[in-house]
Amino acid sequence: MTATTMRGKPLADRIRADVAEQVRAIGHVGLITVLVGDDPASEVYIRLKHKAANEAGFDAVDVRLPAATSEESLLARLAELNVSDEVDAILVQLPLPDHIDEEHVIRAIEPAKDVDGLHPLNAGELYLGRPAIVSATPRGVMALLAEHEVPLEGARAVMIGRSAIVGKPMAHLLLQANATVTVCHSRTRELADHTRSADVLVVAVGSPALVDADMVRAGAVVVDVGMNRTEAGLVGDVDPAAFEVASAMTPVPGGVGPLTIACLLENAVRCARYRRGDLAYPG
Ligand code: NAP
Repeated sequence: MTATTMRGKPLADRIRADVAEQVRAIGHVGLITVLVGDDPASEVYIRLKHKAANEAGFDAVDVRLPAATSEESLLARLAELNVSDEVDAILVQLPLPDHIDEEHVIRAIEPAKDVDGLHPLNAGELYLGRPAIVSATPRGVMALLAEHEVPLEGARAVMIGRSAIVGKPMAHLLLQANATVTVCHSRTRELADHTRSADVLVVAVGSPALVDADMVRAGAVVVDVGMNRTEAGLVGDVDPAAFEVASAMTPVPGGVGPLTIACLLENAVRCARYRRGDLAYPG
């Protein structure tokens, strides 16, 4: 069997077209990204996000701060953005330089402008089953699974990775879709025993070919979130040989990546709606 390739771009294009229409209707949606330092991977992500945001008609501002920026001055900058009428959505690109405490920074973003959904209030609403702003990558994965009509109710879903930006919110969204969810991580014993039980396997680790074909159940749906830059180019966390075992699988590149950007823009529109009172922000 060769798996259906679940490409992200066609769905991402539709989401982006819909976002552009909403931005036109709202008139002004201000998205601010803040990049501290010059991490090359972060620069690439910021560039892609701005390209997409500009194409969708956002008023996007790319704030670049030197690596030596103090935590205090970053927090002061965020305090200004939090109250600015021009700003609907704020994204602080992670990771931050070591001398800045990410936790302090995430907590300092106005929750209704927290486009990455990382603030404890947004994370908590998701935990309680009342999602408000939810991290873009897991939302993109859910949209892709829905697009391919992957049944989740009662399905055995295995999530490898438990980061705040991918693994944990993904596990919660799967749980809300009534899947039976197992979360695996670096201390999980007998990883393959878990993965082989999965009807739906989502992998977000950052380790090339962590999951090989033998670890995938015949007919499973596999979503590879991993993005690893190697000498062979950009590869995921799942060995492409798993295409011969799965019933459907995302490619890397071209799978989840385009959806992350599209759903990020959707989140920014949601932030704009909160600020205009079209949608009620929890609390
Ligand atoms: P992260 O914060 O580094 O988290 C990695 C997770 O993998 C952790 O929970 C870690 O466990 C777990 N892990 C590490 N080694 C493991 C192993 N041998 N077996 C099982 N679990 C293991 O990374 P992230 O931000 O979630 O990103 C994960 C990957 O997704 C990266 O490749 C990243 O580039 C990619 N990504 C892609 C997109 C996209 O749009 N496609 C978006 C975001 C991220 P512990 O918690 O125990 O340490």
